[in-house]
Amino acid sequence: MWGRIKPEFWTHADEGEAPARNMFNYRRLWRSAVLAIVGVAVLPLVIMTLIQLSTTQRAVDAEANQRTHRFASNARRSVTSFLNARREALEFLIQDNDYLSLRNEQRLGELLEGLKTAFGGFVDLGLVDSRGTQIAYAGPFRLKGAEYRDQPWFREVAERGLHVSEVFLGYRRAPHLVIAVKKPRPGDSFVVLRATIDTELFNNLLSQLHLSEGGDAFIISREGKLQTPSRDHGDVFDDLALQVPASSSETRVDEVIGQQGHTSLVGHASIPDSPFVLLVVSPEDALLAAWRATRVKIGALVFASVLIIAVVILGVATLLVNRIYLADQRRLTTLHQVEYQNKMASIGRLAAGVAHEINNPLAIINEKAGLLTDMMVLKKQYARDEKLLGIAAVIVSSVERCGAITRRLLSFARRSDTANLEDLDLEEVVSDVLGFLDKEAEHRGIGITVCTALDVPKVWSDRGKLQEIFLNLINNAVAAMPKGGALTVAARLTEPDRVTVTLSDEGCGIAPEDLTRVFEPFFSTRADQGGTGLGLSITQGLVEELGGTIAVTSKQGRGSTFLVDLPVRDSDTMTRGTG
Ligand code: ADP
Repeated sequence: MWGRIKPEFWTHADEGEAPARNMFNYRRLWRSAVLAIVGVAVLPLVIMTLIQLSTTQRAVDAEANQRTHRFASNARRSVTSFLNARREALEFLIQDNDYLSLRNEQRLGELLEGLKTAFGGFVDLGLVDSRGTQIAYAGPFRLKGAEYRDQPWFREVAERGLHVSEVFLGYRRAPHLVIAVKKPRPGDSFVVLRATIDTELFNNLLSQLHLSEGGDAFIISREGKLQTPSRDHGDVFDDLALQVPASSSETRVDEVIGQQGHTSLVGHASIPDSPFVLLVVSPEDALLAAWRATRVKIGALVFASVLIIAVVILGVATLLVNRIYLADQRRLTTLHQVEYQNKMASIGRLAAGVAHEINNPLAIINEKAGLLTDMMVLKKQYARDEKLLGIAAVIVSSVERCGAITRRLLSFARRSDTANLEDLDLEEVVSDVLGFLDKEAEHRGIGITVCTALDVPKVWSDRGKLQEIFLNLINNAVAAMPKGGALTVAARLTEPDRVTVTLSDEGCGIAPEDLTRVFEPFFSTRADQGGTGLGLSITQGLVEELGGTIAVTSKQGRGSTFLVDLPVRDSDTMTRGTG
């Protein structure tokens, strides 16, 4: 997978020297580009999202707090006014009616009926004298004469003038509470008006609040016993499981962690002039559910954006760095080519100069060696000296070799000379060349076959250059077959306007690792036999000058095949016409 998407520059080994080194370290360039763009694109996005989230979180927390606070305040007001209304009614009755009429149980009954219709929730009404004896009673039970002297509520009302009881199960086995108010009488004595109130109304009040606000509102005693049923935290008279903070007369909101580790917001306030504490419990999960869902959505959105940005950045950076890399590679190749051409041009000039200089002395040596041989043949005392004659022959043949080298060097330098184009029969050109080499081939036991397909047309080309090309290739083939063999030269039309000449020998072949190098100048495996390594390099140059290509295939030990592909008509020679 990685291999397929890996960009070209990734495995580029850096060959540059300091200080240019980093300029060509593409991976580093890529890394810096990616980091820089990620830095300016992704970081601000992430930071802004985090700031936004924390700001919103604070706002949402504050909002939840406020809602609970408001709910608790409302509930507290309702409960307080419920109790106050009934207490004030009792206070009004005890002030408004004199002792005698309150003692009158019929009158007391009428008052109870009035309270029931005006306020609701009243169950009975009793008058207690300062000794704690209930001296008059109106209600469903027979409580006249009941003794309350030693009961805590009686002592409280005697001292403070008011008592509101906790909720208890009355005779009817239903939750009740008692409100008692006191009125002083002449002397030290006093009377107490005591009413029992059904807490049903109370509960209804709170459950209405549940509905409108969505939390759980209920009342507990200061000892933590539930006074009204709650939705999630137990029934009347249960002990509250929540750890409730110390209550204050002000409404307060606290965060409380419940048994299962769930956090709840608890609003609480004590009800004045009563043993009650009002609680409003809202589970945080419910309060924050909407916000949490939104938070997850925002998170997912930002994550997706970061992912897309990262992919785009990686893609763009890779593409750009790869473009730079490829451009650099192209620049380098061109540089190398120019360098190479310059080198070849210098070598050519140098070689031409040297060849020129050597040609004259060579001609003299050749002439003198010939003269020497002639003279030796004529003089009796040398004519039979095989050794001397042999030496002279070696001089002549060496000079010939030198001559061949200088000729090639000169042609190597002459390569840019203007072309001399004409219509040529390829078979004729090859035969001309073979004329030079016939003798040597015969001598080495090499059979040469030339076959040209019938449809091969004449080519518009340069005779001298073609001759040199074939001379070089046939020379190489002959050299590759020291123990004889067959050489086949064949020409055929490969495309309507191209001819391929194939030269196949049965020589030593070329090692696979050398196949790509044989066209390099000065590459030779025959240096010890006078090889210069220039033949194929020159040949390739000549073929390209004629608008063709040259290729080689070879099996080591079996032979080599050189393929010379030539245009029948060069595109620009076409316009010049065939003449
Ligand atoms: P030279 O012949 O002077 O060595 P060339 O450029 O003509 O230089 O050839 C380069 C090398 O290519 C030769 O040294 C030889 O190893 C190899 N070569 C060329 N032609 C053949 C061939 N027909 N068979 C085997 N090897 C060849």
